[in-house]
Amino acid sequence: MDINFSGKRALVRVDFNVPLDKESFKVTDDTRIKRALPTITHILEEGGSVILMSHLGRPMKKLKEDGSIDRERFTLKHIVERLIDLIGVEVKFCDETVGKKASEMSAGLKRGQVMLLENTRFNEGEKEGDSEFAKALASLADVYVNDAFGTAHRAHASTTTVAHYFDEEHKTFGFLLESELKNASRVTDNPERPFVAIVGGAKVSDKMLLLDRLIDQVDTLIVGGGMAYTFMKAEGGKIGNSLCEDDRLELARELLAKARKQGVHLLLPTDSVVADAFSNDANFRNAPSNLIDEGWMGLDIGVYAQNEFSNNIRNAKTIFWNGPMGVFEMPNFANGTKLIAQAVAEATQTGAFSLIGGGDSVAAVNMMGLANKVSYVSTGGGAMLELLEGKVLPGVKAMSVAKLEELE
Ligand code: AMP
Repeated sequence: MDINFSGKRALVRVDFNVPLDKESFKVTDDTRIKRALPTITHILEEGGSVILMSHLGRPMKKLKEDGSIDRERFTLKHIVERLIDLIGVEVKFCDETVGKKASEMSAGLKRGQVMLLENTRFNEGEKEGDSEFAKALASLADVYVNDAFGTAHRAHASTTTVAHYFDEEHKTFGFLLESELKNASRVTDNPERPFVAIVGGAKVSDKMLLLDRLIDQVDTLIVGGGMAYTFMKAEGGKIGNSLCEDDRLELARELLAKARKQGVHLLLPTDSVVADAFSNDANFRNAPSNLIDEGWMGLDIGVYAQNEFSNNIRNAKTIFWNGPMGVFEMPNFANGTKLIAQAVAEATQTGAFSLIGGGDSVAAVNMMGLANKVSYVSTGGGAMLELLEGKVLPGVKAMSVAKLEELE
């Protein structure tokens, strides 16, 4: 961060969209808060004050029966106690995001003090990237810091538009966002080879662009999870009741052909753990992935695939992983994902750079206690995927754009 924060009020966009217990509303996983601490602490230590803002959940999608916002459920007040424990200084909570109270409270902030604004998504203007709302946010502070990587792919008011109201000397990325970009670039810009990408999860349709782009970059592309069965069927396999997107069969064929043409090693699971129901209590056995009986479905990669995938991963020098290899939430179908996580950790120990790209693969790595054994665990699922797809994130772009008035 190349701003001297001494005596300045910094408006800091963080990602405090943390999971809460459904009844007590207590924070059940504070990883995202912890990852924002270095930026907050740095500003305070330099003699600045901090105005934190974030979204929490999707209040506009989950309105109350009478059509009003469920403020009790989605208020950021729920996280204040944990935030104070973690930062170790008092945090003043403002029950509005912009307005008279927010202005007075921010104007009264002294060096070393912290305040938290109410959920940005309580305001209609947030998701629309509304200029008036963004301008009101900007008026609360002297400088703007974006440290919310998880929402940097959204052109929202607090992540993107607000940056247009600060010139380049008065806006900067926070440490977290900076390190997310730096780590992503180790995969996207001249990765050390062999470069192995592992993509899993439920649907091909969610990761089409990613797969297409990865084929241009990797030496080996490993495809596991539910999406592998669309590829299996596209190649003429019998997949029983496994997950399949019939409208993506042609696309799967195109991706397979592209990989062949470019000499990319595209690995699908040769065998699977198949089950007779989508349940941890179902009967299950190992079977070839292209010969699955009707009534059975592939819920994890099989023993042969586990070994083949792991061997490829162990030889890699750069690894990107997004998406589980099976229904890892059910213990009987978690083995494939566990072994892949272990192989990634082993490769890292012998010198590979490994990036875990958000979402369920992060949950899997955490579940196994391997988060410290990989090179970098991203805090942003969608944002990391978009970076890997080669897109410029709106929240990132806005930081290099001059102040709005200078453009007019
Ligand atoms: P995604 O959000 O696309 O990364 O998908 C993650 C979800 O995919 C997890 O909830 C997994 O349970 C699910 N999944 C992975 N493999 C399979 C499979 N073979 N069949 C059905 N669902 C799967």
